[in-house]
Amino acid sequence: MIKTPKELELLAASGRLLASVFELLDRTPLAGKSTLEINDMVERFIVDDLKARPASKGQYGYGFVLNSSINEVVCHGVPSQADVLRDGDIVNLDITLEKDGYIADSSKTYLVGDVNPAARRLVQTTYEALWLGINAVRPGATLGDVGWAIERHAKRNGYSVVREFCGHGIGREMHEEPQVPHFGKPGTGTVLREGMVFTIEPMLNRGRRSVKTQDDGWTVVTRDGSLSAQFEHTVAVTASGVSVLTLRADERVAGAGKRLAVGVG
Ligand code: MG
Repeated sequence: MIKTPKELELLAASGRLLASVFELLDRTPLAGKSTLEINDMVERFIVDDLKARPASKGQYGYGFVLNSSINEVVCHGVPSQADVLRDGDIVNLDITLEKDGYIADSSKTYLVGDVNPAARRLVQTTYEALWLGINAVRPGATLGDVGWAIERHAKRNGYSVVREFCGHGIGREMHEEPQVPHFGKPGTGTVLREGMVFTIEPMLNRGRRSVKTQDDGWTVVTRDGSLSAQFEHTVAVTASGVSVLTLRADERVAGAGKRLAVGVG
């Protein structure tokens, strides 16, 4: 579970490339585009511009470079020509990228056009929950501390946290040990050590936490049809705290203390 300094360097390089994919998406108007068009644009950028490999494609028999999860879709939504993003939608785009053998994983929920205040609040709270989890990472802390920080913020705001899907260790493989739950009790679970690299990727629902997988075998939706949002970063435990390997330019500018105030869109 502990990466060498050289491996951490390679993971950081993959993370920077993946951040640039989201920076491209940040500049792209999404309304009116199908999720398949977005998938194809991202694939061209990763392969042609970044000279990297979309790590999701071919993994577990999956045929696309991203997951696109719209509104009540919790995660693992499959790009399709039929799914055209409309004004008022929220959509999570979840992307993995491999460069020189090492994989980074990140996702962001985008607001498409004019999104109603209730949905915006869910998206903002989910983003805050991610950062509260990230800020709990340091050597000697536990994964229970991370999960608890996320779950507490969700509950305080009236949202539920999905339990069926967790963050995960990452490196040469997309999914490595440990599993990173987005709920938990302080002081419990795996103790964090310098050199661990894993994702944190909370999914928050406006309604109940239970989910179901649709007949396509991929798409996971809320059972009660309520809205769901998600954000994800790949992080490394450092000597003194945490380094966010997939940090985007907008998040760098905002600075550590102001991260919770960063808007999404
Ligand atoms: Mg992940």
